[in-house]
This record gives sequence, structure tokens and C-alpha cells, in this order.
Amino acid sequence: MEFIKAKTILTKVKEGSTWYGIDYNINLYRGCPHKCIYCDSRSNCYHIDNFDVVKGKENALQILSEELSKKRIKGVVGIGAMSDTYNPLEVKYEQTRGALKLISKYGFGVSIDTKSDLILRDLDLLEEINSKNNVIVKFTITTPSDELSKIIEPNVCVSSRRFQAIRELRNHGIFAGIMMNPVLPFITDNEEDIKKLVKLASEAGARFIHTYMGVTLRENQRDYYFDELDRNFNGLKQRYIKYYGNKYYCAVPNYKHCYKIFVDECNKYGILYNMKDIIRAYKKEVKSNEQISLF
Ligand code: SF4
Repeated sequence: MEFIKAKTILTKVKEGSTWYGIDYNINLYRGCPHKCIYCDSRSNCYHIDNFDVVKGKENALQILSEELSKKRIKGVVGIGAMSDTYNPLEVKYEQTRGALKLISKYGFGVSIDTKSDLILRDLDLLEEINSKNNVIVKFTITTPSDELSKIIEPNVCVSSRRFQAIRELRNHGIFAGIMMNPVLPFITDNEEDIKKLVKLASEAGARFIHTYMGVTLRENQRDYYFDELDRNFNGLKQRYIKYYGNKYYCAVPNYKHCYKIFVDECNKYGILYNMKDIIRAYKKEVKSNEQISLF
């Protein structure tokens, strides 16, 4: 693996941000090999050359250790916003595992975004952190179909393995759920798939599903996505161009209908979908555990 220099690893989240109640962010790798056809992180604005090739960050754990030791607020550290931190190189390099050890050592909470069931390797550390602070795991699952997930997210485990990973995490008391983002217009925005995904989520014990019910497209990300549409979905690129032009946020055409179905299904199974409720639930859940153990 190629390594790049990094001056800092830990960044403070902007004041007022309510995204999953995260206080800090870290990205231990640059680039991601999973090749999701809709990936926003490959956009020009992030200036990442050769996005599909993963690069490590030199001395990442040493820098992180120094940074964490100086922070007074033991908030929640988000991992994996710009690239999946559980890429295949993590098996050997264990940067994420090392970061979790530090997060536990210094008493912070953690929020992880992933599509990979490699996260189960670190269950011991997630449980350790969960006993002291807040933990939330967000699995991105965009379709209930393994066949479709192989096309739109070709280099990572299929949807059914991600549901299984959520089940495992929940069995170990970890607050876990689903980012149903993006919902791809004319591909995954149908009633049947939405209902099926929520049902599978419920069966896996997912505590939440969050969605913005659409896809965002910009600059070269759009070009990459359109090329993949041409390769896999005959005539769909033209349909997108006609319907959305150069729009950034492309809400699914039947947004209201799809969102209502989604909310109704979540309510039916008792799954959270509102950001404030999700934050309240995962932070409260750990607090009440602490109170129980104190009592
Ligand atoms: S896992 Fe995330 S960062 Fe990696 S290619 Fe897919 S969308 Fe992009």
C-alpha cells in the first residue's frame, strides 16, 4: 500500500452539525476500492487522484493518539465518511482497529460508516467502547437484492451479508442500522424494494434507517455514474439527462409516494428514521446502560 503524509487526522465537526451527533471525524485511508457506481467521494471537489486505489496515512495512529489525548470533550468520533474504512487492506494494516483501540483508551465514542462485514472482526473493541461511551454503526444498504448490489456496489459484500452483520452487531448490544442512501431513481425507487428492505432490516434487528430518497450527482461523479448506467442499464442515462439535466440533488420522481411507504413501513416495525430520534436513542441507550450498571 502507498502511504501519504498527514499532518492531522482528527477534525472537529462544524458547530451546529446534527449529522448523527458526531463531534469529530477521522479518515484513516484515502480512496476506496469498492467502486460503488454512485460514489460521491470520487467527485473532483475532494481532489483525490486515483480514487479507486487506497492509500494509507503515514503515522496515522501516532498522530491520532496525540490528538485524542489533548481533547477535553470525549465526544463521538466518526470514521468512514469519505472512504470505507473496512477496505481489503485493513485486514493487513489494521489502521481502523488501531484507531478503535485509541478511541477506547481515551474514552471517546464512535460512529462508523461501512458496507463491509469486516467490521465484525472488531466486535470486541466496539463492545469495549460501548461499555463506556456511545457507539453507532451505519451500514449502507441500498437494495434488498444481492444481484443488484453486485452491480451497483461491485467490490464489497452483498446486501444479505450486510444484514447478517447488523444482526451480529445487535446480538452484541451495538446500536446499528441502515443508511438507505442513495435511492437510485428508476432503479431502486420502487415500492416493492423499499418494503422488502425495511422488512429485512427489521428481521436483522436494525434500530434505524435513514434516507434522503434520491441521489446526488456532481462533476466527474456524474460522468462515472452515467458510464456505469450505460454498461448495465440500457437507455437509463438518457432518461436521467431528460429528467434531471445537471441537477445536483436528484430526488426520486415519485418522492412523496416512496417516502410515505418508507415511513409507514418503518412505523410498522418500530424502526427509527428521523435523525433527532436516532441520535436521542443511541446516546440515551448507552447512558441508561451506564445508569443500570451504576445502580
Ligand atoms: S464504499 Fe463509499 S467511499 Fe467506497 S466506493 Fe462506495 S460509496 Fe464510495
